[in-house]
Amino acid sequence: MIELRGVSKTVQSGDHPLTILHPLDYTIRSGQFVAIVGPSGSGKSTLLGLLAGLDAPTTGQIVIDGVDITTLTEDGLARLRGEKIGFVFQFFHLVPSLTALENVLIPMEIAGRRDAAERARQLVEEVGLSDRAHHYPSQLSGGEQQRIAIARALANDPPIVLADEPTGNLDSTTGRHIMDLLLNVRRTRASTLVLVTHDAELASLADTRLVLRDGRPVPQGEAPRITPAAGAAR
Ligand code: ADP
Ligand code: MG
Repeated sequence: MIELRGVSKTVQSGDHPLTILHPLDYTIRSGQFVAIVGPSGSGKSTLLGLLAGLDAPTTGQIVIDGVDITTLTEDGLARLRGEKIGFVFQFFHLVPSLTALENVLIPMEIAGRRDAAERARQLVEEVGLSDRAHHYPSQLSGGEQQRIAIARALANDPPIVLADEPTGNLDSTTGRHIMDLLLNVRRTRASTLVLVTHDAELASLADTRLVLRDGRPVPQGEAPRITPAAGAAR
């Protein structure tokens, strides 16, 4: 379970403070699929970075499975990310000088996993890219790069997968395949999935939606309806 208690983020913008996430209380149950939606600049990536412990909130507590991660040291946060969190980015963030397989393998080797080689091979197979394992990122399509990035995120079987617009840089067909893969991952591993997306159709697949606008949640009742029946005569 992930609990946000009064979590906010204020940054310095020029000579004045700017609050980009206003104090937020929110609970995500284990295994839940939450879509974070909202216009560009509404604070979605900020929130995801806080959940991942990549950034520290200005106020509040982020409690993951009973541990307030805002009290952890950098080492503690790194350990938490290694054990609990897989992160998928919009622009893949693969290491260009490593092959697809190595991008999945090297982090596991660094973490000291003995079964790293076999596991990397299995993960690459799971995302359907065994025949591209020895290609470099520049030799892969965007969709293929994102598959490898997902395999890498799954290296340590994280109970929590965070994805920041993972289909935002892909054409719609490829994006759909990537979403199918993420949903399949979530089903087979029963992981918690927090997905930032612009895509209302993808968001509609989630168990629940958190709509942000200007760093504040939009009450559910006011959220734009995405059902085709909205506005139609009854
Ligand atoms: P989203 O992912 O919803 O597009 P972000 O969370 O990336 O939004 O950013 C929210 C707002 O905060 C944006 O207006 C962005 O420009 C601003 N912002 C984010 N990080 C910083 C920072 N370090 N310094 C100043 N402004 C920032
Ligand atoms: Mg963003």
